[in-house]
Amino acid sequence: MIKEIDDDAVVLRTYKSGESDRIAVLWTRKHGKVRVLAKGIRKSTSRLGGNLEPLAYVHVDLVKSRGELYITRHVQHRERYPVMRSSYERINAGYAVVEVIDAIPSDDVADEGIFELLIRVLGSIDDEHFVPDLIPASFFFKLLSHDGSEPVVDNCVNCGSAGPLVAFNAQVGGTLCANCRSGHAISHDALVLIRRILGGDLASVLREQSAPGAGEVMTIAHDAIEQHFGKRLKVTRASAPITLSSSDQ
Ligand SMILES: [Zn+2]
Repeated sequence: MIKEIDDDAVVLRTYKSGESDRIAVLWTRKHGKVRVLAKGIRKSTSRLGGNLEPLAYVHVDLVKSRGELYITRHVQHRERYPVMRSSYERINAGYAVVEVIDAIPSDDVADEGIFELLIRVLGSIDDEHFVPDLIPASFFFKLLSHDGSEPVVDNCVNCGSAGPLVAFNAQVGGTLCANCRSGHAISHDALVLIRRILGGDLASVLREQSAPGAGEVMTIAHDAIEQHFGKRLKVTRASAPITLSSSDQ
């Protein structure tokens, strides 16, 4: 374990520790997942309380504490994401993204590519020109590609036939023809949308209000990312808004 960390980080989540402390789980640019003990963070006067809110993009100066924990020497905001924080829909999109990052096994080596993806997706959620609905789904597909697990969507993943493709099965890794079908039925609209997302047309997809097939694409992306990490994820399926504390000052 490294003694000191001076790095950029995004706060994935925080949780209670003892009477007045919190642990913040960070994804750092160069050191992967890091846990930070924030002493007295739950007291209302704590300045660090605001800086280590979930979804904060910060620069941190950390020193090793007990066990696997670090303590903060200095925390500074890099981005405050005001557009994201002004909308429950956008905040929930942000939560869906950091929950998936948090699902990456802790013992994985640091991956700067994941950090760059994370920063880019948070920037997209914070961009008022983009409709947030499909941002988590497109992020999940990008993450799968990054991990070398991009789903097959151009032919049948089982027999290689060009189609028509009528189903998607995350377990077998992509689309299926009528003869091989399993998993979820997929519409032509949803298939086109996934191909656009994976094929470099994401920016224009995100400018469209309620793109045809969007609901299906979200379900497929969630299935695929859960399959990839081998676990159920809560927030990605949450329908009710998640309330954020308002202490981001
Ligand atoms: Zn087939």
